[in-house]
Amino acid sequence: MKCLQTVYRDGNAFRKTVSEWKEQSGSRPVLLHVFTDGAAEEDIRKAEAIIAEIMPDAPYVGSSASGCIYGGKVTTEKLVISCTLFEKEDSYTRSKLFSLEDGDMDAFRASLREYVSGLKDLKAIEVITTIDTIPIREFCQVLEEEIPQGVHVWGGGAFGDNTFKAFLFRNGGEYTEAGVVMSFMGGADLHVQYTYVSGWKRLGYPLKVTKAEGYVVHELDGKPAYQIYEHYLRIPNDDHIFYNALEFPFAVQYKNRRLLRHAMSCDENGALTMSTRIPEGSILHVTYGDPETIMQDVMQSAQMISDFAPDVISVFDCFGRKTFWGGTEATREIVPLHQIAPTYGLCTAGELIRWEDSMDHHNLTLIIAGMREGEPKAHRSVLVKKEAGNNESTMSMINRLVNFINTATSEVIEANATLSLMAITDQLTKLYNRGEIQRLITERVEEMKKQPDGENATSLVMIDLDDFKHINDTYGHQEGDQVLMRISNLIHEAIRKLGNNAADGRWGGEEFMLMLPGMTQEAAAAFAEEVRLQIEKLKFDKCGTVSASFGVAQALPCEEPDPLVVRADTALYQAKAAGKNTVRQAEENNDCKCE
Ligand code: GH3
Ligand code: MG
Ligand code: MG
Repeated sequence: MKCLQTVYRDGNAFRKTVSEWKEQSGSRPVLLHVFTDGAAEEDIRKAEAIIAEIMPDAPYVGSSASGCIYGGKVTTEKLVISCTLFEKEDSYTRSKLFSLEDGDMDAFRASLREYVSGLKDLKAIEVITTIDTIPIREFCQVLEEEIPQGVHVWGGGAFGDNTFKAFLFRNGGEYTEAGVVMSFMGGADLHVQYTYVSGWKRLGYPLKVTKAEGYVVHELDGKPAYQIYEHYLRIPNDDHIFYNALEFPFAVQYKNRRLLRHAMSCDENGALTMSTRIPEGSILHVTYGDPETIMQDVMQSAQMISDFAPDVISVFDCFGRKTFWGGTEATREIVPLHQIAPTYGLCTAGELIRWEDSMDHHNLTLIIAGMREGEPKAHRSVLVKKEAGNNESTMSMINRLVNFINTATSEVIEANATLSLMAITDQLTKLYNRGEIQRLITERVEEMKKQPDGENATSLVMIDLDDFKHINDTYGHQEGDQVLMRISNLIHEAIRKLGNNAADGRWGGEEFMLMLPGMTQEAAAAFAEEVRLQIEKLKFDKCGTVSASFGVAQALPCEEPDPLVVRADTALYQAKAAGKNTVRQAEENNDCKCE
């Protein structure tokens, strides 16, 4: 297959070129792309009319772009038309526009399913959508589910901005500002290999999205989202924030891959409007892009595509990358691809690629899809010049500094995690300390008050070792410590088996507290009885056996944490009074104001 390109300047020259294309293609399949970056509507219509007149059977797709790829460059030309010619008898191409103006995703699903089921040997679908005017997540899900496994799907968003809406068009004057136009390519001998590349790398520590709504991220780690840019990167909240923040977009982890999201603008409260919805609860990382690192990644991907020896390469290049490179410098990323095979494509607002079992929505990404008919043609397998990889002796200054930041940050994160764990752990027994178990009880009891139904029973079990002072006095403090540690292990094993957020803590010297969510008083007493029997069976070198007493209380629907603990303590006192080594259940709280 081949790709021929032209720019539309006037009707006569264009007519001549299309006639030549028609001659070259004969009766073989073709696919045309018409990309426009600011062309006059009149010119687009004229170009369409000429294609329809001279190549009436040729499917073509078109869209608004933030820049068209022409002759291996991101060009400033306004209207670029590319013609991909296929060679094999049974290769085929189709184009179809699905309007989603009515938002009826079920209808879209049904018609896509029907359309795809009629295509034999379908290998690839190139997708151009108006990303901002359709429910993009749902859209991706439909593609994921309705396009047969093994079919390559890639594409991106037509470009629009404050002054005009993104639009799509296709044969027969079909046009939409909310929908998708698809190019279907198939045939037994058609092969596709594609990849995507960003080049931005993670910087610093993870951030949690604590408040978000649609495209707006209000807060990260409970603070206005913009503070990350202000505090760490000194990026002012002015007219240039889009350009400055573009060097430091956020990465969201999705399955085993990282998707980039960039800030489009920032309001006076520090909320960032992002390129794509980021759900609350997501974990983000700031990333940094430097030209050298980005080019290294591009060259690696180019090498991979080069090894596939494609005939033609389809390129979907985010407009944000173009901005990052400073307009025509973006050509740097395309030139190496064009050395491998002729390229066509556009600068997009959002990129789409089927990866593993899902349809991913990227930003700031370059999608490179190589296509080939038949076996690799030897002369086409141009080796891309290998740039030095990110190996340690040739790392750039910026990469060394980032490495310094990332290493130092992960050491601080690790140290913080150790400190946080120490702050809630009892050093001798390794159970939660009193503060933490108390906090957990309060949290659970408060939670229960919000949903006071039967399934939310919570019981406490308070444990006190019997005659422990005697063990210390007779066999020494060390033996006492041994007893505490072994009994703690025993309790912890029993709690672990319960699962269900059950927790255990050291309440005081030889006293323990268990919090058992989802357990009634009877169930908790039965559990306590099992633990009591297990403790009784333990054998110690010096002191032989030990025993413990248990007090059990179930929280009443309106009960505060403190009275609940008092009732467990009272039940424990009764167990002691009854001769120790036994379990006692609490009486109902007479002060309870519930019905
Ligand atoms: P009872 O059966 O009534 O509970 O009697 P007891 O002797 O167990 O109760 P008491 O409260 O009189 O004694 C508890 C002892 O636990 C006193 C204290 O020295 C000891 N103890 C507290 N913390 C530790 C510790 O960390 N290690 C050791 N070895 N002993 C401890
Ligand atoms: Mg005690
Ligand atoms: Mg005791």
